[in-house]
Amino acid sequence: MDVFVSELMAKMTLQEKIGQMNLLSVGADVTGPVLSQGVEEKIDKGMVGGLFNVWGPSPVRKLQQRVMEKSRLKIPMIFGYDVIHGHRTTFPIPLGLSASWDLDLIQRTAVAAASEASADGLNWVFSPMVDITRDPRWGRVMEGAGEDPYLGSQIAHAMVTGYQGQEKMFGTDNVLACVKHFALYGAAEGGRDYNTVDMSRQRMYNEYLAPYKAAVDANVGSVMTSFNEVDGIPASGNKWLLTDLLRKQWGFKGFVATDYTAINEMVAHGVGDEKQVTALALNAGTDMDMVGELFSNHAEELVKSGKVSIKQVDDACKRILEAKYKLGLFTDPYRYCDKERARTQILSSDKIALSKEAAIKSMVLLKNDKNLLPLKSGQKLAFIGPFVKDQGNQLGSWSGAGRSEDCVSLWKALETAELTKNCSYAKGCSIINDAALIEKLNRDGAHLAVDAKSAQDLIDEAVETVKNADVAVVVLGEPAAMSGEASSRTSIGLFNNQVALLQALKKTRKPIVLLLMNGRPLTLTWEEQNMDAILETWFGGLQAGPATVDVLFGRANPSAKLSMTFPRNVGQIPIYYNAKNTGRPFLENSKYHSQYLDVSNAPLYPFGYGLSYSQFEYSDVSLSSPTMKAEQSLNVSATVSNSSKVDGVETVQLYIRDLVASVTRPVKELKGFQKVALKAGESKTVSFTLKSHDLTFYDSELKSIAEPGDFKVFIGGNSRDTKEASFKLLAP
Ligand code: BGC
Repeated sequence: MDVFVSELMAKMTLQEKIGQMNLLSVGADVTGPVLSQGVEEKIDKGMVGGLFNVWGPSPVRKLQQRVMEKSRLKIPMIFGYDVIHGHRTTFPIPLGLSASWDLDLIQRTAVAAASEASADGLNWVFSPMVDITRDPRWGRVMEGAGEDPYLGSQIAHAMVTGYQGQEKMFGTDNVLACVKHFALYGAAEGGRDYNTVDMSRQRMYNEYLAPYKAAVDANVGSVMTSFNEVDGIPASGNKWLLTDLLRKQWGFKGFVATDYTAINEMVAHGVGDEKQVTALALNAGTDMDMVGELFSNHAEELVKSGKVSIKQVDDACKRILEAKYKLGLFTDPYRYCDKERARTQILSSDKIALSKEAAIKSMVLLKNDKNLLPLKSGQKLAFIGPFVKDQGNQLGSWSGAGRSEDCVSLWKALETAELTKNCSYAKGCSIINDAALIEKLNRDGAHLAVDAKSAQDLIDEAVETVKNADVAVVVLGEPAAMSGEASSRTSIGLFNNQVALLQALKKTRKPIVLLLMNGRPLTLTWEEQNMDAILETWFGGLQAGPATVDVLFGRANPSAKLSMTFPRNVGQIPIYYNAKNTGRPFLENSKYHSQYLDVSNAPLYPFGYGLSYSQFEYSDVSLSSPTMKAEQSLNVSATVSNSSKVDGVETVQLYIRDLVASVTRPVKELKGFQKVALKAGESKTVSFTLKSHDLTFYDSELKSIAEPGDFKVFIGGNSRDTKEASFKLLAP
């Protein structure tokens, strides 16, 4: 590769090298305010290194042919796309998938997405998105793995490995992954997208950076910069971030692409004019310019005037060519344009089955009074809500090539399972009743409408339907367009018209199962008090309907656990389990402590929480020793029993607390988890091995260190309800 790339680069003009650093968008998907123009002529001149938003063996082949036939050096282009939770076969949104806590499952979804995408002309996916976030107002929480750096890191690793495979050279069914958004995008102030981020290095190193680092450790081939600033410098122009941290400290060897027009946006950030921000980006270590074309417009002049060294451009070009080499594009530029593979791989039955499995394993049972779920045979059921027969929203945001006609709605799934005999249906309400909001969402591609019937008529119909049933299953939530990019909200409850429906149904005194479809933690305080059962299904992908039927009727037992805290109200945000203790931690009946007067500090549903149709009991935690030396490890175990009559799977979680350290440490930190299958009545001893590495943190000098002293260790089925023990880390 080294010889090939340097021989090729010896033939390249400066302009051709800069051309490799130019990434343009063609096709229908637009995620920014600018569209690429004159793409074909630029390809002919060798001025385009890669394209995105176009897929399919024929369209991709046609564009690749242009570069191979018309450009001077015939350097194949790389073809990227936002394959975020599956390609044509859409899986649950990443936040839902992360709730499975099932790394093998998550990796299999990435393998399947890579297989489909690579059969469809693509060789580069803009995934995984690993931004830690503690603010459910931010619409992009649906794209990531939630709030925890440990779980997020494991998932980042699994996804990169799933996409890229384990080999240095990529197979035809692998794609180059792109971890994003580097860095800290999830910490946008107020949860408002693209907003300012400001945090201490302490917080960065200890709480936010780990998942990006995990992706680098998994050999991720590319990194995407974030829109936000880091320490006052926008990420795409931040040399400390892209060179000192990413390349020098972490040893990243791939290439850095910007997010959509992120270099141009540095002008609005206020750090220079177009030429200045281009120099900033190049000198910071940015290799590829997404859509902005500032490299194309200014890099040559900047090199000639000495503001940017030729080495900077050479390094960037080299890294991009290396990625193309590893993808096998120099051997066969059409390697990913195989119609036969597209025919057999896309929507193959194994992928559809995986989509259903993933949807089942992502559903979180939030409440289940008197074991209302699973539904019992012979019950008369009223299915209520605008999502019951809807089959587009279940795709969720960032569903790329996913199509609503491939989705199976809940009602369709009931029909297929021949269950509708005992079921009735009423729509109950429109998804949203607010005309101004609908107009806004439809302007950007949603298809929402207020029902022609009045809100009251819809409610009355639903009430009548429920009166004639034994149980109501009410499917409510957000439309897909309410989460994702540029979809922040200031209130995150169910819409008023949906709550009005629930209030009316509550008066029937029939038991109600609330089934939720949404892309973020919602505030469900009233619902928790008034509904009998609540099942969080997220946006479950193509097979959300059949998966929901399996869970509702007990053919599958829910086992997912929240990867992000659900607050009681928006005022509690940011809210997360791994918080610091403060000098005045909450104390019952005492005023001058860290608390609110009107609402408890505790979340509605904590991180790691999720019920099952089984009941799990934990016995006391035991340790292999009360002390541990730095080079030793410690065995931590607990007995977990299934005290119910139903087989189930429990996600056993291990947390630690470093009681005294040179910098303050969180009250709990996840350090391990295991999914354990337990038959009815069965008990198992679940063991974890703690190593001193698990006890490390970044100190005030940002050195990773495990400090001797007292630790607590906790085991439980969520971050709140745990059993604990203590041990001491001895001085070396
Ligand atoms: C998003 C990225 C995405 C890119 C390309 C941007 O607006 O922030 O996550 O990969 O568009 O579609």
